Amino acid sequence: MLVMNYAKRVQRIEPSATVAVGNLAAELNAEGVDIVDLSVGEPDMGTPDYIVEAGREALADGHTRYTDSNGILKLRKAIIKTLDNRGLSHDAEDIIVTPGAKHAIFETVQALVDPGDEVVLIDPAWVSYEPIVSLAGGTITRINTTPHDFQLEPALDELLEVFTDSTELIIVNSPSNPTGAVYSDTALKGLRDLAVDYGVTVVSDEIYGKFTFNNGYTSPGSLDGLDERTVTIDGFSKAYAMTGWRLGYLAAPSNLVDQVGKIQTHSVTCASNFAQHAAVEALKSGDHIVNEMINTFQKRRDFLVEKLSKEGVSINPPNGAFYLMVPVDDDDQQWCEDALGTAHVATVPGSAFGAPGYARFAYTCEPKRLEEAVDRLSTHGLL
Ligand code: PMP
Repeated sequence: MLVMNYAKRVQRIEPSATVAVGNLAAELNAEGVDIVDLSVGEPDMGTPDYIVEAGREALADGHTRYTDSNGILKLRKAIIKTLDNRGLSHDAEDIIVTPGAKHAIFETVQALVDPGDEVVLIDPAWVSYEPIVSLAGGTITRINTTPHDFQLEPALDELLEVFTDSTELIIVNSPSNPTGAVYSDTALKGLRDLAVDYGVTVVSDEIYGKFTFNNGYTSPGSLDGLDERTVTIDGFSKAYAMTGWRLGYLAAPSNLVDQVGKIQTHSVTCASNFAQHAAVEALKSGDHIVNEMINTFQKRRDFLVEKLSKEGVSINPPNGAFYLMVPVDDDDQQWCEDALGTAHVATVPGSAFGAPGYARFAYTCEPKRLEEAVDRLSTHGLL
């Protein structure tokens, strides 16, 4: 096969580790192997019926053409209301609806990061931040919250050490994928002070914002001084079990949105029309189904933590998302390969997130499957 002259930017990045494990698990499944798949980062529930119905109606009503590049006004207005509940004040011109939150992050980074600019990541961090920054030519600096039970507050001094005059932005993800950590107000205020001092933009990825189990979470843009320098990212994939609809959004000061909007028009044009109409319904109809889903996840979290503890693996239950970082062998890659190959349990190596020695367990399946997973791992001497 002809080897083309690939651009340097694409040679700098690797395929997503989470997708790779998922694909391997799916392959084994297709061969008839019973895999307990704890690698999947999406709710196992279907999209609620009333949202599906709204999507159907939108198609029947002819919402099949391009929309305003930044999204239909009805949806942007519904998003403004949701953001208001989090203490964020935005107008319709501050919002861009994107095909997934991932693309919102991608566009934001493209609009802000020049080659050589520094972007701070808080490890363990979601697998796509680094490649997204790398594609823009940015340089990553990191702090590591692993020694602090994944909390940011005890790592604030380390954050101060990595901020420089070249720091362009910091990506915050609370509740976090992969750790489930929800950052304290003190941590976020410390981060705010640094961002203001160094003139740094904050990208706040709040895709798991609905998934908090105790006291909710603080949206960084709601803090004094951060409103004018925060890009808030959210979407419909997790909260409304709509991963395949590909719908997310960003909210930012309108002058930045004008810049990001140029990328949107010249890349995807707009998010899917009928999906946007369904999303209006998702936001309008209240969160009773979402709340049921969150209760379900909380019960699963407690079940998994308890089950692991009986196997001698003690974990502080995280307050959000639907992930648990489980300490495994130093060589977490090998551990995950063994877990999949021998116990037929799919997990993601912590090193993919900057946390070697851990595996990420997504509790996106029923308790009896979680039980089966832990039993199999134990039987194969992996716990
Ligand atoms: N941010 C984080 C932290 C995620 O885990 C994900 C999905 N895995 C996304 C963003 C992207 O979500 P979307 O489906 O809206 O693109």
